[in-house]
Amino acid sequence: MPHIYAHRSAVPKTMRALAKIDPVPGLKLIEALVPVPGPGEVLVRVKKTALSYAALHIDRWDAWAQRAIRPPVIVGHEFAGLVASIGPGVADFHPGETVVAEPHVACGTCRHCLSGRRHLCRDARRLGQTQDGVFADYVCLPQGCLWHADPRVPIDVLACFIPLGQAVRVARRFDLLGANVLVTGANALGCMTAAIAHHAGARSVVVADANPAGLALARSLGTTHTVDTRSQTLDLVCRELGIGEGFDLGVEAAGLPAALGDLLAHLRPGGQLALLGAETGEVAVDVHAILSNQLTVAGIDDRNSASDWERLTQVLRHGLDLGAVITHRLPVGRFREAFDRIAAGEPGKIILDWDC
Ligand SMILES: [Zn+2]
Repeated sequence: MPHIYAHRSAVPKTMRALAKIDPVPGLKLIEALVPVPGPGEVLVRVKKTALSYAALHIDRWDAWAQRAIRPPVIVGHEFAGLVASIGPGVADFHPGETVVAEPHVACGTCRHCLSGRRHLCRDARRLGQTQDGVFADYVCLPQGCLWHADPRVPIDVLACFIPLGQAVRVARRFDLLGANVLVTGANALGCMTAAIAHHAGARSVVVADANPAGLALARSLGTTHTVDTRSQTLDLVCRELGIGEGFDLGVEAAGLPAALGDLLAHLRPGGQLALLGAETGEVAVDVHAILSNQLTVAGIDDRNSASDWERLTQVLRHGLDLGAVITHRLPVGRFREAFDRIAAGEPGKIILDWDC
């Protein structure tokens, strides 16, 4: 396949990469070697990356980050890009194709991997934490992590497919038709989940948070009611909506212990709870509320996303517009401003552009 090697010749030897070099707060934009794809690997030219809270924790170098990663490492896991070149044995991906990727690289040999349950692999490496991530001009990944993206979906939105996939999984896993849904956390993940729950037929979608900018974002994406927890109570909104026994489904996206407690107190008997927000510390849970109300609790993480991404592509191409969740687009050279905005409470997604 001579065209592949011709394409490879256009790839530079070095690239920009945003990395955690030393075990201290902050990130550095460094010059790194462009990886060469080995057997079964694909080199991707990164076009857009999206900031996540994980990246913010790593930037801050908080207690969670100190446990999760070992510097030096290139950070980031949310991105969309184009295949630049392929290694030996790769037949399903071709240079120029638009791709997104799962954020975990499974070991391939443990009992879960060998049973077709790669998403349960305990030895998986995590992009941007235990394996070099995607905040770089190029990233090299095993072909099994990549997914053929639809180039008709805006590439900024494709860069957000990992959290969007989580939101879609909530809509697919729970019976939302006519349901009353409470989302705690008006961050990008919570707002995306609320928008998709509304699209999937929920009767009411209430988003609760103490951040007015987040609540405004939730409303712009179709949330039926918002609750500013600084001045309003969930009991009041339940009365207004005629929700007597509590919500059918609670979605915890804030990653805050207080939000989880509020959720548990406002679910109906037999209700369901989806955990999306990643608490980074220990959380006290009212087990009695779960037991006595016979609640079902489900952890929804960001693995095994391919089938969710297929559905997501369909709803995006046929009526659901989630573009408003992207609030800023910045060249990668302004990464400091992007991280500071998120740290200051910016609820929307910030895209870093690697073309400039
Ligand atoms: Zn494994």
